[in-house]
Amino acid sequence: MSSGNVERFAPSPTGLLHLGHAFSALTAGRAAEGGRFLLRIEDIDTTRSRPEFEAAICEDLAWLGLSWEEPVWRQSERLEHYRAAVDRLTAMGLTFACTCTRGDIKAALSAPQEGAPVHGPDGLVYPGICRDAGHPAEGAAIRLHMDRAIAHLGGDAAVRRLTFTELDEGDRGERGDIALDPELLRHGIGDIVLARRDIGTSYHVAVVIDDAAQGVTHVTRGRDLFPATPIHRLLQALLGLSVPFYRHHRLIRDEAGKRLAKRDDARAIRTYREAGWTQEDVMRAIGIEPCDRASS
Ligand code: GLU
Ligand code: ZN
Repeated sequence: MSSGNVERFAPSPTGLLHLGHAFSALTAGRAAEGGRFLLRIEDIDTTRSRPEFEAAICEDLAWLGLSWEEPVWRQSERLEHYRAAVDRLTAMGLTFACTCTRGDIKAALSAPQEGAPVHGPDGLVYPGICRDAGHPAEGAAIRLHMDRAIAHLGGDAAVRRLTFTELDEGDRGERGDIALDPELLRHGIGDIVLARRDIGTSYHVAVVIDDAAQGVTHVTRGRDLFPATPIHRLLQALLGLSVPFYRHHRLIRDEAGKRLAKRDDARAIRTYREAGWTQEDVMRAIGIEPCDRASS
């Protein structure tokens, strides 16, 4: 069966792949059968990314039976595209430069008039300190001015008409359209960072630029990233980018019900491999039918 899907697996090379990554990659890889499967290395965070983890990722994916198109895109080689996107948003009047440290933000949020601090997808929702300060961009972080972004798109009612389609992870045909919520954007997400001071970009900008540039039709990733998707949908609308389908899958947990983290080497695919597990053992552990039986 030919799907025609363009699917991608987009790990950050900051640690070994664990069973949750195996679930993401295999789900995307299977949905790409008859279409295209891309591997994208999300290494914009040069302080944490390491070439040896990239090599280990490729080795583990190949061991799982996956193959992907070459060349593999590396986000560290595409920084000028992300910068251009942020510059466009700036030219549209939708950004501001922010010189706050984490400490400044915490202190502002503990001021009595601020109310309870809200945690958004990127941590504490920015309290707006630099919004109208007119700082120069040089050496500062660049934030999205959320109010202006909503106004630019035509206001709350227009934003509510922006949707993305969520598919169920097994592709049994169930789907739902999720609309953006301007209240959530303003108060639960806020003026997010588009370009970090140290790396000149952010995950959100890099991911929407690359998904569009690579013609990705389906984004498969864990539910932990679901809160970031409204940000991605908003950026797609502002930058005129294509909108893929989304499939946010269940998270693989350890025996205690705790989410797996990259630093948890005990659940690394590599650890199981070295302990003598087969690919089928890994698939069974994460609830994916090994291939030969999936088709029967
Ligand atoms: N690079 C991200 C991560 O490793 C995933 C990005 C995505 O799938 O959108 O968590
Ligand atoms: Zn600031």
